[in-house]
Amino acid sequence: MRNLIISLLVLLLLPMVANASGAQNVASSAPRRVVVIDPGHGGPRPGKVHRDIVEKDYVLDVSKAVREKLGRKMPDLKVYMTRSCDSAYHEKQSTDNRRRAEFANSVGADLYVSIHANAHPKSSVSGCEVWVLTLNEKLMQQNSNSATSYADEGDFIDVSDIDRSSQGFMVALARQLENEPFSRFFAEECCENMSKYGLRNLGVKAGTVYTVLYFFEGPGAIVELGYLTNDNDYNYLKSKKSKDEMAEAISDAIVAYFTRLDGSSADAQTEDGAADAAVEATPAEELTEGYAIQLISSLSEVDIYDYQFKGYKGRVRLLMGTGRYKYKYCYGSYATAEEARVDLAEARKTFKDAYVVRFKDGAIVQ
Ligand SMILES: [Zn+2]
Repeated sequence: MRNLIISLLVLLLLPMVANASGAQNVASSAPRRVVVIDPGHGGPRPGKVHRDIVEKDYVLDVSKAVREKLGRKMPDLKVYMTRSCDSAYHEKQSTDNRRRAEFANSVGADLYVSIHANAHPKSSVSGCEVWVLTLNEKLMQQNSNSATSYADEGDFIDVSDIDRSSQGFMVALARQLENEPFSRFFAEECCENMSKYGLRNLGVKAGTVYTVLYFFEGPGAIVELGYLTNDNDYNYLKSKKSKDEMAEAISDAIVAYFTRLDGSSADAQTEDGAADAAVEATPAEELTEGYAIQLISSLSEVDIYDYQFKGYKGRVRLLMGTGRYKYKYCYGSYATAEEARVDLAEARKTFKDAYVVRFKDGAIVQ
């Protein structure tokens, strides 16, 4: 019964939450997107310190490089930073992270990216990871004994006293359910990109209630660049190239995120995307042949009712391609390319990079 009440409340509250979150405001012409980059800590709070690396300084340099790269890669994207010098966001540690999230809400951010470096009492622990918010009680419990114990005070909110039936918690829960797939998409991209530079990929972690993610109303993630306390990670982060490479990885993930959010084909962003038509994909059981309109390509499978399909929700189907973004979500089934082009103009009102593809046996062919 309690679960039913929670479900109903979530359903009732979803539209409210969706309106509060910039990422959910999907218009047919893409709005100007906003990202907030949050270099962790600052001022009197250094974060993790190991030998000569101080987290607050390191992540500030990386964040500035991310901003600079985004300016070139996505000039239309509005980029804010929570700090651009060595200062805390708020004098009180307990309020600092919450204020950062509130700042991101106030500028209508579509994505919040908090950048940190890690440390662990065991020097063998290494790798990069990206955290997204969960309010799943089991996961919260599981993580409360691990990650939390090594976090700085103020990084997490204590939810043990929060009334789970309060409206505030319900709103946060609804918001988290809505945002999680989006946060995860960014997080997966980011992990994969960072691990290309030699850091072990610890993957996406859904965990304990990070203050910044809890109070921010849209999708967001905390990027942990590696463990300063591990020799391998330390040596990498100490190397001259590391800040630029980490910024490259993070900025590419941000570009991929917005490219997907606004319905553009992500192929343009991948070096192997051009190979799409060259390799025959595994045929699916549906034995039809013809033309369709490709709206979105994706790294992983997406529910056809996912709201990113906008007006095409439930009316798309999956055709397999090749390359990294091999899941191609397409609309329509036409005998000729001419017929498909008639509907293409309409599709482009929503997905400006949509185009006509030929398919056979459930796969895109040349
Ligand atoms: Zn940190």
